[in-house]
Amino acid sequence: MSEPADTPETQMARLILALRSQGVTEAKVLGAIESTPRQIFTQELFKERAFEDSALPIACGQTISQPFIVGLMTQALKIDKRDRILEIGTGSGYQTTILSKLARLVYTVERYRTLKQEAEGRFKDLGLTNVITKFGDGGEGWPEQAPFDRIMVTAAAPGEPKALLSQLKPTGILVAPIGKGPVQTLRRYTGDGKGGYEIEDLIDVRFVPLLDGVAREL
Ligand code: SAH
Repeated sequence: MSEPADTPETQMARLILALRSQGVTEAKVLGAIESTPRQIFTQELFKERAFEDSALPIACGQTISQPFIVGLMTQALKIDKRDRILEIGTGSGYQTTILSKLARLVYTVERYRTLKQEAEGRFKDLGLTNVITKFGDGGEGWPEQAPFDRIMVTAAAPGEPKALLSQLKPTGILVAPIGKGPVQTLRRYTGDGKGGYEIEDLIDVRFVPLLDGVAREL
């Protein structure tokens, strides 16, 4: 006899407990995760695993981040509801959606047209009105819309993301995975208001690389 499957509500409650026990404790952040249906961001094949605390494949050989990492990065950004945020690496749009629930405006850049278009469809379905998307090389940031209060990079930068840091407000915060290998360091840069930064290493992470230029394939 097979066990009856857990309802999505039960699965989500379990996920939230898991995140809390790992240190994602801020109520606003947990609330944004709880109100975001992760199953609409995953591929059909992986829908049943949408509530697992793991990264999953999406189109174009990319991944939707692990909920714990999404929660941790969002919490690390210390978002204020008036903030304008720049996100590099739209991917599925899952992280974008969480950010959009906590901030005034989210600008998000993706180097695959397909991913950008699919994510836009999800933002529309969810009724999000404060997300602005762009097809481009996120390594260059979005100079026309700078400076930003917060910047989140969801692909691994090989070294200090200088162009992005230059688009951050003097007391802004940037969170990014930094490193060239398969394991990177999640680093937080907090502007000191005088042109310098406090730099903190938060945790080891595994992200797909931040690549130069836009993708030629769809
Ligand atoms: N935040 C996403 C995770 C996406 S994975 C989510 O929640 O689903 C990282 C994404 O960064 C991929 O979609 C990849 O195509 C994108 N990426 C990598 N290099 C980039 C660049 N230079 N500019 C813009 N996007 C980039």
